[in-house]
Amino acid sequence: MDKFELVGKNLDEIERFMLENNQSKFRAKQIYNWIYLKSVDSFEKMTDLSLETRELLKEKALFSKLVIKDKQVSKDGTIKYLFELIDGNFVEAVLMRFDNRANLTACISTQVGCPMGCSFCATAKLGFKRNLDTNEIVQQIFLIQADTGLKITNIVYMGQGEPLLNFDNLLNSIKIFREQFQIGARRITVSTCGIIPQIEKLADLNFQSTLAISLHASDNEKRKQIMPVSNKYPYDKLIDALKKYTDKTGRRVTIEYVLIKDINDTLEDAKKLAYSISKLKSNVNLIIYNQNEYSQYKKPLKENVMRFKYILEASGKKVTIRLERGGDIDAACGQLSSKMKNK
Ligand code: SAH
Repeated sequence: MDKFELVGKNLDEIERFMLENNQSKFRAKQIYNWIYLKSVDSFEKMTDLSLETRELLKEKALFSKLVIKDKQVSKDGTIKYLFELIDGNFVEAVLMRFDNRANLTACISTQVGCPMGCSFCATAKLGFKRNLDTNEIVQQIFLIQADTGLKITNIVYMGQGEPLLNFDNLLNSIKIFREQFQIGARRITVSTCGIIPQIEKLADLNFQSTLAISLHASDNEKRKQIMPVSNKYPYDKLIDALKKYTDKTGRRVTIEYVLIKDINDTLEDAKKLAYSISKLKSNVNLIIYNQNEYSQYKKPLKENVMRFKYILEASGKKVTIRLERGGDIDAACGQLSSKMKNK
């Protein structure tokens, strides 16, 4: 019989498991706290449980199906985790610390590989293998917490895969992060390349986490050249869907724009982008292209980045430039390629 996977379960479910195994239901709360408050990943450490209960748990339960297979630490403190899944596939997650912030942000994956085929992204080169299930998404956070002994305060769905193509597991995992891990909705960001029907669904659900859109171009022609998703969900329709989203939810969206030298970093691009999102309630997050071994694209010149920022700011947008983290260990945006080959 399959072992009972503890991480991802709510208190009711753990209570039921305990009752089924002739254990006192009150022990469930202790186990729950060990998992979600103390991030302990060994039954031995659950010192307020009897030996007999710990033995039973060892036999019938487990924490997580994922195993930390490799871990790389960047000189800036970023940690990249490679997880092995039960079927032998791999996914990655990244933990980022910033010296001047109390936040601890984890970037997690929702799919093995990715089907979107963006020309600049290393994950795209893996192709698509499968969706992660809810627990495989949630357990990434548990394992990072257990490994570091630190409490993660912010989650970004910006690892491998397209979160909106794994919609139910995405929403289930957010529910677990909010209810069990006590991470507030506003501290969770979902990044998408722009799957319109699912954006409409999020609007209907009055989604309260932050939605970030990988826009990366200022019109459909250019976007199609680097992001095939634009053939199916064209630029203007995407902007319209986002406007409806902000109207319905009252929430501002984040426009992500990765600046690639000579591809989308010109003065004209900046002006066209500013115009096309001028009526969209949004902030802009500029990302400096991270070079990877899978493409010829280059980083933009610094002056072009500053010009881009200036033009968007002059149009009234709040603009941030994403700090590059973990570039030396291929942990930066667009570099996650699960180097231990997926099966
Ligand atoms: N599929 C989702 C989640 C991935 S998030 C999405 O498209 O949003 C990862 C972010 O990093 C996306 O904005 C992606 O476009 C960006 N990215 C991909 N390759 C990159 C690279 N080489 N340098 C910088 N950013 C990159």
